[in-house]
Amino acid sequence: MTSLLFSEDHLAFAESIRRMAEREFLPTYLERATRDEFPSEAHKTLAKHGVLALGVPEEFGGQGADLISLGVATEELARCDFNLSLFVLYTASAGTLSALPPDEARDLGPRIASGESIWCGAITEPDAGSDTANVKLRARKVSGGWALSGEKTSVTLGAYAHKATVLAQTDPSLGRKGLASFLVDLDDTVERQVFRDAGFRPLGRAALAFSDTFVPDTRMLVETGRGQASTLALFEFARVMLCLMCIGCAQRAIEITADHVRNREAFGQPISRYQGVSFTLAEHETHLEAARLLAYKALSLQEAGRSSARESSMCKWFAPQSAVRAINDCIVLHGHIAYSEEMPLQQMLRDVSGNQIADGTPQIQKLVVARHLLGREWV
Ligand SMILES: Cc1cc2nc3c(=O)[nH]c(=O)nc-3n(C[C@H](O)[C@H](O)[C@H](O)COP(=O)(O)OP(=O)(O)OC[C@H]3O[C@@H](n4cnc5c(N)ncnc54)[C@H](O)[C@@H]3O)c2cc1C
Repeated sequence: MTSLLFSEDHLAFAESIRRMAEREFLPTYLERATRDEFPSEAHKTLAKHGVLALGVPEEFGGQGADLISLGVATEELARCDFNLSLFVLYTASAGTLSALPPDEARDLGPRIASGESIWCGAITEPDAGSDTANVKLRARKVSGGWALSGEKTSVTLGAYAHKATVLAQTDPSLGRKGLASFLVDLDDTVERQVFRDAGFRPLGRAALAFSDTFVPDTRMLVETGRGQASTLALFEFARVMLCLMCIGCAQRAIEITADHVRNREAFGQPISRYQGVSFTLAEHETHLEAARLLAYKALSLQEAGRSSARESSMCKWFAPQSAVRAINDCIVLHGHIAYSEEMPLQQMLRDVSGNQIADGTPQIQKLVVARHLLGREWV
């Protein structure tokens, strides 16, 4: 991290998260990352250190941290445990609490901050991934609320979450103008089917089937007509956070590899002396720094109340790709020992790889950037 980008407070905060994460999470990352099991103990530790409260607004019992701090916390945690760092983003979805009745928001906020209430975000459907406007899960008006029926898929934390923010269609005749968003209790009317994934394993990605699941009127988070725009606005933040997860994780891979190449000798000298080795690391270090600059530029724009759609999308195709390539080369620079699952690099590669797709593929991000560059009618 460079002091030109961050205030003294941000640097001190980054240092404190780094020390905590190195002590609490780094030694046990691989153990957690290779199990299909919710990381309960680590989640409690995150709560104990106030990490789950960072994104919860102060008026609802959280810390209301600024966006740069949320980014810094994500990057530093991801350096030690990619999967755990996602909880910074997920607890920041508590920002939507202000759409609920104040009493309910004041009750839910502290529960999110303590780790008692886990939320997930359900947008993707079997027939609507990149094309979010095509969401079909039906919200039917009933007395006092809405009945939700249909399927969401690929929902991170879907296996474990207590509540989901769900994008749903209130009136199919309106197309994208019929979309609204709801806060839904994942009770017994919701069936969960968990994926067997290569990475993200402690985060329980799942399909959720809703069958006349009742949602009271007060749990409509985003009114009919604003569902898609609000989802795209949330993506601006979420995409950057996913990038910082990749950047933190790949930075750690480079650190591990820098250590290795200084110590490993071949043909009578440390392999770091071969430019095929050192220049490879120099290139990845450069790509990660460029991705980091884009990420914090996007967060700074958001913090200033401006749109970062262009920068978030630039970052979202570039950072995960840079991380995947960096970690892959780190594996090669270790030789055979990194092919073993006993080293963390293979798992780090699998973990970051998911973020190439989550919240929008590289093609979709390039579409956004190209529209900014050329004009919507030309792309
Ligand atoms: C690890 C992980 C976590 C996820 N977590 C969540 C979550 O918590 N909640 C949630 O709702 N979803 C989640 N997702 C789903 C994710 O957002 C979608 O998978 C993603 O948006 C792509 O949708 P799709 O898989 O249906 O692919 P499709 O939309 O079917 O796309 C398939 C391919 O076609 C390409 N393509 C599609 N349209 C175009 C176009 N116009 N131009 C060029 N190429 C195009 C895509 O880039 C892609 O390569 C997650 C996914 C992963 C892998």
